[in-house]
Amino acid sequence: MSPDVDVLIAGGGPIGLASAIEARLLGLSVAVFEPRTGPIDKACGEGLMPGAVAALARLGVFPRGHVIEGISYHQRAHHAEHRFRRGAGLGVRRTELHDALTERCTELGVEWVRQRLDSYEQTSDDVVAGGVRASWLLGCDGLHSKTRRLAGLERQQTRPAGGSRRYGYRRHFELEPWSDLVEVHWGDEVEAYVTPVADTLVGVAILGPGGVDFDTAIAGIPALANRLSGARPGSPLRAAGPLRQGSRRRTVGRVLLVGDAAGYVDALTGEGIRVGLAQAEAVVAAIHAGTPRAYERTWERATRDFRTLTTGLVALAHSPLRNSIVPISGAVPRVFGAVVERLAR
Ligand SMILES: Cc1cc2nc3c(=O)[nH]c(=O)nc-3n(C[C@H](O)[C@H](O)[C@H](O)COP(=O)(O)OP(=O)(O)OC[C@H]3O[C@@H](n4cnc5c(N)ncnc54)[C@H](O)[C@@H]3O)c2cc1C
Repeated sequence: MSPDVDVLIAGGGPIGLASAIEARLLGLSVAVFEPRTGPIDKACGEGLMPGAVAALARLGVFPRGHVIEGISYHQRAHHAEHRFRRGAGLGVRRTELHDALTERCTELGVEWVRQRLDSYEQTSDDVVAGGVRASWLLGCDGLHSKTRRLAGLERQQTRPAGGSRRYGYRRHFELEPWSDLVEVHWGDEVEAYVTPVADTLVGVAILGPGGVDFDTAIAGIPALANRLSGARPGSPLRAAGPLRQGSRRRTVGRVLLVGDAAGYVDALTGEGIRVGLAQAEAVVAAIHAGTPRAYERTWERATRDFRTLTTGLVALAHSPLRNSIVPISGAVPRVFGAVVERLAR
C-alpha cells in the first residue's frame, strides 16, 4: 500500500518545522503532528547564532528580531567580549520564530495533524501513526521526546560532573535593550543570559539547579538587577529541564530523531537552534537519498563541537574553577573569540 505522505513529523517546534520545510523543498510530502495551536512559546534564551540566521534564510524564513553582534561574559568586575566576525546573530521571540516558520510551511503545503503522537508501528516499508501512513517518521518532539522513548533510544543521563541536574527559567522585561551583545552574567550558582529580542523587549534566561527562584537569582547579580530595576515583566515565567538528555542512537529503521529529541547537553552555549537546523538539513538529505544510516554520521559531525564545548563548559561551571572562567576569558580574548566563533558558525 502506498503511504499517505512521505514524511511524518512528531513536533511542530522550530526543528520540526525546519525539517518540514527541508522536506518540501526536496519535493517530499509532509504532515506535522503538533497538539498546540497558535504561536508556540517556550523557555529559551532566544539568541539565534549567525549560523542559525543563515540556515533559516536558506529555508526562506526571515523572522523579525533584534540584531546581536556578539557575546559578552560578566562576573563582578570581570568582563570578556567577542563580536562575531562573519555575520550577525538575531534575538528573536519564540512566538515570532514560530510564526515565521509556520508561514513558510503553509506556503509550501505542509499538512497539520492537531494531536500528539503517542504511538506508532513500523514495518520495513512504512510507519503508521495516528492513522497516517508514511515512509519516514522524524521525532522532533523536544527534550522529553515521546518518539525517543517509543523507539527504545532513551539513554540514562548522569548528572553533570560535580553538580546537580540543570534547568532553564525565562522571563521578558519591557525595556529598551542596553546592548547589542548577548550578555551572560555569572552568578554564584546560576548563569543569567540577557538577549535583546525587540526594540522594547529584553529576554532573561536563568540556568541553574532545580527550584531556583527567578527574582532571587537576579537579585544575586547586582549589575543585572540594576539594569532591570523598575522594568515591567513582559511575559510569564517559563521553565524547562532537566536540560541534559541523551539518545543511544538517532535511528531505528524508518524512525529518526532530530533536534533536542536526539539529545541535548545544556543551554550554556546558547546554540540549540543552530545545531538543530543543521540536523534538520542532514536528516532530510539522508531520507531523500534513502540512506537513513548516513544520518548517524552526519549527526555526529553536525553536533560534535556543541557536545564537546558545552560539556566542557558545564563541567568547568561546576568545578572549583568556576570563578576563573570570566577572568581567564577576559585575559585571553583570542581564545574566547575562537570558541565563540566555533559555536556561532
Ligand atoms: C533556558 C533555555 C535557553 C535556551 N537558549 C537558547 C538560545 O539562546 N539559543 C538557541 O539556539 N537555543 C537555545 N535553547 C535551546 C532551544 O530552545 C532548543 O534547542 C530548541 O527549542 C529545540 O527545538 P526542537 O524543535 O527540537 O524542540 P522544542 O522547541 O521543544 O519543540 C518540540 C515540539 O514538540 C511538541 N511535542 C512534544 N511532544 C509531542 C508529541 N508526543 N507529539 C507531537 N508533538 C509533540 C511540543 O509541543 C513542541 O512544540 C535554550 C533552551 C533552554 C531550555
